[in-house]
Amino acid sequence: MKKDRGLLIVLSGPSGVGKGTVCAALRKHDTDIQYSVSATTRNPREGETDGVNYFFKKKEEFEHMIQNSQLLEWAQYVDNYYGTPREYVEQTLAEGKDVILEIEVQGALQVRESFSEGVFIFLMPPSLKELRSRIEGRGTETKDLIDSRMTVAKEEIDMMNKYDYVVENDEVESAVERIKSIVTAEHCRRERL
Ligand code: 5GP
Repeated sequence: MKKDRGLLIVLSGPSGVGKGTVCAALRKHDTDIQYSVSATTRNPREGETDGVNYFFKKKEEFEHMIQNSQLLEWAQYVDNYYGTPREYVEQTLAEGKDVILEIEVQGALQVRESFSEGVFIFLMPPSLKELRSRIEGRGTETKDLIDSRMTVAKEEIDMMNKYDYVVENDEVESAVERIKSIVTAEHCRRERL
């Protein structure tokens, strides 16, 4: 059966749950999935590259993108803006390729309004204690910022019922296998529509 448009996969969940690690592993398994690079006003962490990890923007540049409708969704998270550049996602889906967005909850819920045909997956930490130790282990945030991220994480976990699927990230490979099964099932469902 012919597949016209690609599938939009939204992978969301609290900071530190391992969305990035799961996405990287998923892309190794399934090279057909395209990854959308977000824009942000936060400073690059050590080892991050502009255009690869994020498009790093000044606040005014980001606000200009909002005003010009260049973002599919955007959110203010802790003290910075984060958003998904619209053009790449729309073009790639139109070419029939699947695209994955790795975003926080407010943004995911905005996407749900405009792309109801997307598949929305919430990645869940095994526990809040484990989440905190994963953020601490990254060594990139101060204690205050870790506390802020944990406060947001609790609010985000309260929203998990708004997603199509909840996948616990207890072990990366097993989370990736479950996400691959979801994507396969969603393709089968859509091809029938
Ligand atoms: P970090 O600063 O740790 O890279 O990202 C903070 C949070 O923002 C994470 O939950 C991350 O998934 C989310 N995020 C990254 N890019 C985007 C985006 O384009 N839009 C939204 N809404 N959230 C994003």
